[in-house]
Amino acid sequence: MPSVVRVAIVGAGPAGIYSAEALTKGAVESGRQIEIDIIDRVPSPFGLVRYGVAPDHLSIRSVRDTLDRVLAEPNVRFLGNIEVTGDASVGVESASLGRIGRVSIERLRANYDAIIFCYGAATDRNLGIPGENCVGSLSATQFVNWYTGHPDTAPDAWDSMLGSARSIAVLGVGNVAVDVVRVLAKDRTELEHTDMPEHVLGALGESVVTDIHLIGRRGPAEASWTTKELRELGELANAEVVVDPSVLNLGESSRRLVESSKVVARNVEVIRQWVQQPPRQTKKRIHLHFFRRPTQVVVVDGAVAGVELEETALSQDGQVSGLGQLHVMPVDAVIRSVGYRGLPIPGLPFDDSRGVIPHVDGRVMEDGAPVPGMYVAGWIKRGPSGIIGTNKKDAVNTVASVLADLESGTLPTRKSSEDVAELTGSAVVSHEGWQRIDAAERALGTTRSRERTTIHDRVDSISIATQAL
Ligand code: NAP
Repeated sequence: MPSVVRVAIVGAGPAGIYSAEALTKGAVESGRQIEIDIIDRVPSPFGLVRYGVAPDHLSIRSVRDTLDRVLAEPNVRFLGNIEVTGDASVGVESASLGRIGRVSIERLRANYDAIIFCYGAATDRNLGIPGENCVGSLSATQFVNWYTGHPDTAPDAWDSMLGSARSIAVLGVGNVAVDVVRVLAKDRTELEHTDMPEHVLGALGESVVTDIHLIGRRGPAEASWTTKELRELGELANAEVVVDPSVLNLGESSRRLVESSKVVARNVEVIRQWVQQPPRQTKKRIHLHFFRRPTQVVVVDGAVAGVELEETALSQDGQVSGLGQLHVMPVDAVIRSVGYRGLPIPGLPFDDSRGVIPHVDGRVMEDGAPVPGMYVAGWIKRGPSGIIGTNKKDAVNTVASVLADLESGTLPTRKSSEDVAELTGSAVVSHEGWQRIDAAERALGTTRSRERTTIHDRVDSISIATQAL
């Protein structure tokens, strides 16, 4: 093993950055020199902390300051605007202002002693129902990407829908659905202090939506949202929660859940308080529906006209089944929020049923054996669940395997010492480049009396990042 160990981390979200932190700590403790490159296809680091956590959750978003300190470590480099591909014929392709650089896994394996894949779950799960991909039926992932200013999303992608849809169905009752509903239900003044791009604030401010329907296929006790997030729906300036009291007639399995989980008990209590509140006659309404599962998005003349829902019931063990009674809820648009899903990289082992890379203790597994030098952490390892902090423990566990393999001599030795950053060219965004984007976003925010305003456009970000070069 060469005296300097080189590790590539694919993905600069929490799992990737916490992996770099754990490796750096391990290097100090073992007296080894470990150089780390964190590669990401977007120009800015922090993954879902930047492009997932809702912009009005400022305290959760502030975790990026902690993550940023890891990127500033002398043994860590951030290499933004580079995509890792399974296509070996790519080798290395340089980045330019308008083009993402590319590097193949094969080339990474030649130049690093270990690779940790931390690229998360970038897409959304499908419902598998007719009409779900028609115009006006979109995924929460697309909406979240847009309102957080993800460079892959067109700035005007939601203008038409927000400008025309008076009623919107949000399918799924997890925390992402709650974020989506809250952002839709807030007035512009309630979002003004966030770092949302200016055109996003403009389009949300012009939204004509008055009725948002949040629809769960199981009951209020089975919803996967957390209490703090749920409660926020009842604290909006111009939107009130509307819920039928009958949803609180809990069945036996739901009552057992309430008794066994404080979180579930608190969630149900929040809903009970809403049921008891007098109506506020607000401009917007958030309707909660339970025991309804979507069976099709109803399309008339190529546009969403409603969502067909089947009544459901729970079995003794909380499993959902359809009762055969169908109802059409007329709505102008549908947002599907039924979970994220990880995507495969061709050539890497992948468990398609779960959307994850198979592993044992963070070691990538193929045909029952670990693939030497290949590791995995975060959502692409364990699936899309948990809070940001969950990724820290997860990354520490994976890095323990990397360090153990390093000590036992089972890491493969790299065959060459090319510098991927140099090969991919001057449009690669370094940590210094990111700091320029950061400064530009803060300056833009100051002009509007907020901490920052996200720069949405990829080319703008890259030209700011590389302007001094
Ligand atoms: P999630 O918590 O897994 O929720 C997915 C929802 O979709 C569930 O209500 C699920 O219902 C429903 N669903 C799945 N398949 C369905 C189908 N075929 N038909 C109807 N409904 C279906 O996922 P998420 O909301 O995307 O959140 C992902 C992770 O990020 C979670 O760990 C979440 O807590 C976290 N997150 C946290 C925050 C925060 O802390 N503020 C914010 C956003 C996200 P069933 O339960 O019946 O399957």
